Amino acid sequence: MRKPTVSEPYPVRALTLWQPHASAVAVLGKDIENRGWPPSSFSGGLILVHAGLDTDQAALRQVPRDLELPRGAVVAIARITGAHTDCDGRCSPWADRDSTWHWELSDAVQLPTPVTEVKGRQRLWVPDDPLRRRVAAALPQNAACLASHLRKEPSASTAALPAAPETVIRPARSSACPSTPTK
Ligand SMILES: [Zn+2]
Repeated sequence: MRKPTVSEPYPVRALTLWQPHASAVAVLGKDIENRGWPPSSFSGGLILVHAGLDTDQAALRQVPRDLELPRGAVVAIARITGAHTDCDGRCSPWADRDSTWHWELSDAVQLPTPVTEVKGRQRLWVPDDPLRRRVAAALPQNAACLASHLRKEPSASTAALPAAPETVIRPARSSACPSTPTK
């Protein structure tokens, strides 16, 4: 089984979810992602929450009707804090008791404007640098620290980067970046 690379300074992966699950993570505080497989060594890492083109019709009935459901778009960034099995679905209202694995998500930050025209992929996938930069630019201002990680900037300096023409990002050393990966 392929293991995610963790040698990058700021590893980030992406996960494609059917709607409305992606929007539920972004907006409704969905804190469990139900999967048939564990996130393996990527616990603690940041994920881009990507909404695929598919729809879970049954789940649609459990979310507000006016929930916006972008497709083919990154809608949020979140952190995988762990995963467990055998809880019988009692860990969260979002947990599916028939699911093998419950991935624990936290610190979700919604993108005010989703990053669109992004193709979904299987498993935990590696977002390329252009996508990382697009998501960084779409993050809200209070997530500047996350944005700097997506741009692979050292947290002490932003001056050397030629990319990211749109805004000056000043990484914060505050709790604004609770999702910072430690490696
Ligand atoms: Zn559980």
